[in-house]
Amino acid sequence: MSFHTSNVFFVQNEQNLSSGVAIFANQKQSTMAIMITDECINCGACEPECPNNAIYEGGAEWRYSDGTSLKGLITTLDGNDVMADDIHEPMNMDVYYITHDKCTECVGFHDEPQCAAVCPVDCCVDDPDYRESEDELLAKKDFMHL
Ligand code: SF4
Ligand code: SF4
Repeated sequence: MSFHTSNVFFVQNEQNLSSGVAIFANQKQSTMAIMITDECINCGACEPECPNNAIYEGGAEWRYSDGTSLKGLITTLDGNDVMADDIHEPMNMDVYYITHDKCTECVGFHDEPQCAAVCPVDCCVDDPDYRESEDELLAKKDFMHL
């Protein structure tokens, strides 16, 4: 089933059906997501530092389940059902990339984005087109790590 990446999404894990759902609503826009620019030299230093496994090598497919507790059914806010193990197409074929659907800007884990902290060429930068509030990022973190 197709999946639309978005910063506005609703996710329901089948393990949580009895206890409710996690809702990510784009109510406030206060912080910028992190993106990797084409200046990336593919050194790989950032990938193991990400607490959410949101960083992938160029050309690598990504999954919600990679490095998270997510299992089973995930439903996006616009009604797309996916399995946590479903494979999603690479967002960049040439250099490392960050999938926004898993990046929490390190909220809940660290005081600053770890990818940006270790990048030797400072190519992990704010993405002005993608913003989430602190609350939304924390909710995303809690959802991915039960
Ligand atoms: S900001 Fe943090 S969570 Fe986001 S990609 Fe970088 S290391 Fe991962
Ligand atoms: S640390 Fe920077 S240069 Fe190295 S792979 Fe990550 S984004 Fe690219």
